[in-house]
Amino acid sequence: MGNVSFFVLGVLGLPAFYLAVEGVLKFRRVHGPRLVTCPADGKPAGVRLDTGSAALAALFGAELFHLSACSNWPQRAGCAQRCLAEIENAPQGCLVRNIVAEWYRGKECVFCHRVFGEIDWLNKPALLEEHHGTRQWSNVTVEELPKVLGQSQPVCWNCHILQTLCSRHPEMVTPRIGAE
Ligand SMILES: [Zn+2]
Repeated sequence: MGNVSFFVLGVLGLPAFYLAVEGVLKFRRVHGPRLVTCPADGKPAGVRLDTGSAALAALFGAELFHLSACSNWPQRAGCAQRCLAEIENAPQGCLVRNIVAEWYRGKECVFCHRVFGEIDWLNKPALLEEHHGTRQWSNVTVEELPKVLGQSQPVCWNCHILQTLCSRHPEMVTPRIGAE
């Protein structure tokens, strides 16, 4: 009886497990903010795909892209979503996490000169803007991404934390002159 149960579980469970894994992978591929150029004004815009319908359609081998959010909404709510053509041409290339990872790849932290490899998304690196302190990505909107990347230098997580501590609590930091 036990063997029959395992057989039934195997027959029914494996396809369900496969579909679940496929669904998660498809979801991860379409999930996240994207940077596009709005066809209405030619300016950068931040958009998100309707991940539920896109992942469901992908399970059946179809592509179904709709926007669920746009930085130009509600002013342009109900637009024809012509920017979807840009997403369909490069679904991974316009993902913000991929754009950011590619920007860091091979660069050095402006403070400690550590070379960036794969991005640790839990302890994300930061930015150094001219005439400003370090800045976290949570303070950058998607639509200002091209401008910010063009004007900033990369800072690793450790140096960002140290710089933040120095600027907010200088009394807690003791410079080590001559330290390596
Ligand atoms: Zn550093």
